[in-house]
Amino acid sequence: MSDATDTHCPYCSLQCGMRLKATGPDQPRSLEVLERSDFPVNRGALCGKGQSAPAVLDSAVRLTEPLVRDQASGELVPASWEEALERIAAGIRSAQQSHGLDAVGVFGGGGLTNEKAYSLGKFARIVLRTSQIDYNGRFCMSSAAAAGNRAFGVDRGLPFPMADIARTGCVILVGSNPAETMPPALRYFTELRERGGKLIVIDPRRTRTAELADLHLAPRPGTDLALALGMLHLVVAEARTDEEFIAARTTGWEETRAAAMAHWPEHVERVTGVPVPQLREATRLFCDAEPGAMVLTARGPEQQAKGVDTVSAWINLCLATGRAGRPLSGYGCLTGQGNGQGGREHGQKADQLPGYRMLNDPAARAHVASVWGVDPDSLPGPGRSAYELLDALGGDIRALLLMGSNPVVSAPRATHVEARIKSLDFLAVADVVLSETAALADVVLPVTQWAEETGTMTNLEGRVLLRRRAVDPPDGVRSDLAVLRGLAERLAPELAAGFPPAAEEIFAELRRASAGGKADYSGISYERIEAEDGVFWPCPEGGSPTPRMFLDRFATPDGRAVFTPVSHRPAAEETNPDYPVLLTTGRVLAQYQSGAQTRRTAELNEASPGPYVQLHPELAARVGAAEGDPVAVLSRRGRAVAPARITAGIRPDTVFMPFHWAGEGRANAVTNPALDPISRMPEFKVCAVRVELAT
Ligand code: SF4
Repeated sequence: MSDATDTHCPYCSLQCGMRLKATGPDQPRSLEVLERSDFPVNRGALCGKGQSAPAVLDSAVRLTEPLVRDQASGELVPASWEEALERIAAGIRSAQQSHGLDAVGVFGGGGLTNEKAYSLGKFARIVLRTSQIDYNGRFCMSSAAAAGNRAFGVDRGLPFPMADIARTGCVILVGSNPAETMPPALRYFTELRERGGKLIVIDPRRTRTAELADLHLAPRPGTDLALALGMLHLVVAEARTDEEFIAARTTGWEETRAAAMAHWPEHVERVTGVPVPQLREATRLFCDAEPGAMVLTARGPEQQAKGVDTVSAWINLCLATGRAGRPLSGYGCLTGQGNGQGGREHGQKADQLPGYRMLNDPAARAHVASVWGVDPDSLPGPGRSAYELLDALGGDIRALLLMGSNPVVSAPRATHVEARIKSLDFLAVADVVLSETAALADVVLPVTQWAEETGTMTNLEGRVLLRRRAVDPPDGVRSDLAVLRGLAERLAPELAAGFPPAAEEIFAELRRASAGGKADYSGISYERIEAEDGVFWPCPEGGSPTPRMFLDRFATPDGRAVFTPVSHRPAAEETNPDYPVLLTTGRVLAQYQSGAQTRRTAELNEASPGPYVQLHPELAARVGAAEGDPVAVLSRRGRAVAPARITAGIRPDTVFMPFHWAGEGRANAVTNPALDPISRMPEFKVCAVRVELAT
């Protein structure tokens, strides 16, 4: 192989470009990370996670041989690939013969390449013929996706390139902390301010990102919807609406206007805790901004049981002020996982087929079935969403195949989910390390990872990228694609040819399956990605990429954006005397998602060795906790314990825990699985807890 390869980071949705160079002929698997300044998104900058990513390739805890659970000892023991795949095929057959096709579930991940996500969805629907497939991206951005679809007719995280952020006039960042989650993106916000633009951050905590803002609003968790309504109320009251835009390019304004007028600023202050003068200042900065303004959301407003309506409220604000469908203006979602965007476009979701087609649409079924060479009537219907699927384990669902996810740490109400996983008849996990979920499996398959395989990823801008293989995988591991091929050969040999192990061959089929869909990749090829350093979808065959969407029309049937009238409602779980504080969860700079890789990287672990409970000095005094004291956070579902980190940079009625760890500091033992009725997103961001000194 060449000794220097241009590729992309394995972690977040920014998908920073990097160059990997073998450190020497004697150490072909030892890679040095070099700057790749020609890639436009990060222009060479990387955070510590990207810099240290090669460490996971040769981690001492890397899995390099399949493991099967020994019946006698109950331990996981090494096995051949043949034995491991046979065990999985037998586990699947047994569950389906005894309990029906839907007795087997499939759980994917937002870090899988497009080719893997596509193949996993196809495998579930034509080999297993189960409806029970979903993925951890449901926990990431599904509320923004649903709200974007509802308003614009399609969901692409950012409908414009990241570079536009630096050139607009004002950005409202809602529940987003890129200073910790994607530091190379921060330069767009600092450049915005250097050019005279304004940055408004909305977060219950004074995060590192909030420190940089012109204005920081700190609402009570779960009240972002009311905040957006209060701003829209002021926009109407102060005649700052863009009537021409509303008339020409939208529908549904009158009902939305009426709903907003019911949310008086004084009422919004009582609900959110944000003073009216701050609300007015935020509204003024947003409306005055030239040449445009944006609202960007992340998990804060999205991971709520009213996440879709909350995002809709922010979209309504953009539409009412004409800040959408125009250059340097619009609404966008800063997706989290590496392939959070592509992972939701190609058929891993419970209700979707490739190309962002809906599974219950007869025309979509017919198109995809023809590409797959099967009868459309043989395709199952929509299945359960991620949490509902996990909750059904050991009940209707007796066996589970899991790729690229670690729900024992990342799912809400995680102790319950862990118990459901333990109650399965059969669990197979494909992973690179023995994650907390893999440790419970009957069969664990060691698979290749980012720099050892080629495949495409779609970043948060909808830019399809090629992640290139830079190093040969270690002996004993196989790709997820080879795993699916091996299982197809055993379970449905007549369909096995439809699961080639070569990613480029799968991508060629994905292009055909997505043709004419909302996420149309038919004009994108590996060659084109190489030549153009990423290609924005939609890009139909023979057509051009689309870096900026909606400039002429929205993707709705009539081309107009749709207002949705929404009203504030309380969180699924409010405080009471037994649980008087709100818990919100999030991420830290040196860890990623469930920590499966980053907790096993020495320098990241050193930088961020464990969980903590962030709390205000007033709350710490009430609890009797000093800095570093072990503090217990208890909800109706569970308990997590971690050292106190005391700061005035958080609301006194709120505590924060990062969710990257297992063990007694597992924040998701406490979180609430209450679901949004549309997106089925759990309410990770707010639940009622009691805080006390741990004994
Ligand atoms: Fe990787 Fe994201 Fe860090 Fe970039 S910001 S180096 S993509 S983790």
